[in-house]
Amino acid sequence: MSATTGVSNTFPDDPDASRHVDVLALSGAELLRFVLDAPKVWEALARCSRCGFQVLYLGILRDQRVSCMNCGDGFYELLDAAWWKNAANRMRRACRQDRTLLPAVKAEWEARHGDVPLPSFPESFAWLNTAWDTTDKRGRSFDARRHYELAHLVDRLSSGGISMNKIATILSTADYVVRQEIYDTLPGRVHRWLGEQFRTELRNLPYVGSKEELLRSVRWAHRQWTDPRARLRGERVRPRAKRGGITPPAPRP
Ligand SMILES: [Zn+2]
Repeated sequence: MSATTGVSNTFPDDPDASRHVDVLALSGAELLRFVLDAPKVWEALARCSRCGFQVLYLGILRDQRVSCMNCGDGFYELLDAAWWKNAANRMRRACRQDRTLLPAVKAEWEARHGDVPLPSFPESFAWLNTAWDTTDKRGRSFDARRHYELAHLVDRLSSGGISMNKIATILSTADYVVRQEIYDTLPGRVHRWLGEQFRTELRNLPYVGSKEELLRSVRWAHRQWTDPRARLRGERVRPRAKRGGITPPAPRP
């Protein structure tokens, strides 16, 4: 039985924030992304009374005693309605304080889910449905998939022994035949590792403008994988300019 897997993010590369991020430590803005990540999280998020381990447990009852799978000593407790009401108010305040927050979150939603509408939220969160409908998404949709795809690809190619420079050269070559020519110069052990089919696969590999662009994608994806809270903060591949268009000065060495 896997009652804990009833709700999950539809985006398999994303780390499961409900498992790895302490919900009690989140800011209003982070809570907003957290709630949009896991449908019905306010009904299903249970925390261990002893160690704080979190699970999404659909169908758990308020008075049910389910032992924690992490420490074995504590029991899961649902966060109560008052806690979620307070959380919803903090999310709302965050949206008021930063007018770019909801438009950015809306763009992220559309990049992930296409034109799937926002689900209907219960009373405490109902303001979100209204605000959502009157918000325009901000800028171009952010395509997280592409960055994850590039990071997987780089992992695969480097495990075959191809250097980062060579990977960047291949991916920043648009012409498929030239890609193959570069690939053919690689040692036989690389070809054996990647398999016979790989030479034809080169046609379908994504194109990147430069090595720097590739490195930015890879760094971003690895950070998302190792720090689930990075996504709740809405970290981008390129750091955003500060509001008002002023870029902060570089820190002193
Ligand atoms: Zn525990």
